[in-house]
Amino acid sequence: MKKTTGFDRNQTRQWHPATQAVRGGTWRSEQGETSEALFLTSGYTYDSAESVAARFAGEEVGMTYSRLQNPTVAMLEERIALMEGAEACRAQASGMAAMTTALLCQLSAGDHIVAAKAAFGSCRWLVETLCPRFGIESTVIDGRDNDAWEKAIRPNTKVFFFETPANPTLDIVDIRHVCAVARAHGITSVVDNAFATAVLQRPLEYGADVVAYSATKLMDGQGRVLAGAVCGTEKFINEVLLPFQRNTGPNLSPFNAWVVLKGLETLDLRARRQSDNALAVGRAIEGRVARMLHPGLPSHPQHDLAKGQMDACGPIFSFILDGGRPQAMAFLNALELVDISNNIGDSRSLCCHPASTTHYGVSADARADMGVEEGMLRINIGLEDPRDIIADLEQALTRVGL
Ligand SMILES: *Cc1c(COP(=O)(O)O)cnc(C)c1O
Repeated sequence: MKKTTGFDRNQTRQWHPATQAVRGGTWRSEQGETSEALFLTSGYTYDSAESVAARFAGEEVGMTYSRLQNPTVAMLEERIALMEGAEACRAQASGMAAMTTALLCQLSAGDHIVAAKAAFGSCRWLVETLCPRFGIESTVIDGRDNDAWEKAIRPNTKVFFFETPANPTLDIVDIRHVCAVARAHGITSVVDNAFATAVLQRPLEYGADVVAYSATKLMDGQGRVLAGAVCGTEKFINEVLLPFQRNTGPNLSPFNAWVVLKGLETLDLRARRQSDNALAVGRAIEGRVARMLHPGLPSHPQHDLAKGQMDACGPIFSFILDGGRPQAMAFLNALELVDISNNIGDSRSLCCHPASTTHYGVSADARADMGVEEGMLRINIGLEDPRDIIADLEQALTRVGL
């Protein structure tokens, strides 16, 4: 019997990810609406004083306040958890809210965190600037070096934190190895999976404990809203993350949750097509740039590792021009189809100069150390016909003398 209202988690657990992306977590009201309902409400009403008391006491199921629960947000959380193969998920106001919550909910003064140095600028800030302010020690290492993780462990190490592929260097971290080292030492591994999503890479299957997202990127995929999510075991989400989230409030708006639910319906299609397009474009321009950083191409030093842990390499790659910042900027200014934009995951092709934008806040030394060179450009390949994208990049390369 097909249910038209309500939601049966056990029935949906067995579906494959592409099915989950369209249907997982759908909860229908008594109206039987096809598309997920948007519950744009901050509060709830109750039939009696006793009923609200029972809900606050946890003796009656039901929502009490949208910082604690909201039906539209809950649908998104259930869908992401099902796609990820996670026991539980909590949505966050943005990717950085997700990273901050995932780390601070479990760290205290006196603890130590080890993180990969190739990372989104704000993730580096979180680890190297915010954590130490609250007495949490941090060590930043080359995440590609498997031995470096174990060497950095101290008696008080609580968390390993990395993204793979990394923004914007496209460094790959060996998820299986690093998460196994973490497990062996009772350390919690937190993986920022924004560049891949569950469609292309499922860190939990490789032993990760927590997967954190900027859903602003591929999940929304159409450049509309900021959103984030953290996935993990029920124990971690309910006992460690929830007390932090409910009391500090980095919650996702129901409207933004609804937009991301719509985005997830096409995520599988978009992620695969954009990955194919990114490969075609990468191959076409590789011979004309000084260095290509594309995990899907054999020239990437970690190509085999990327192939071993990803279904496809995603829509984003970077490349270096020999002429440094002036040539990189001239290249951006010469683009006609591709937009100059620091967003990624969008269905439009977007290109940016990380050293002066996404990684502007990171010191010049740290940028050089993590490989964010002055001549580096990062590109997100969209859903346009790859022939048009290639033609645009080729004319821009010609105009800057390449
Ligand atoms: C964009 C991004 C973030 C931050 O996400 P927001 O939604 O912009 O807050 C974190 N990690 C990675 C890898 C990102 O690309």
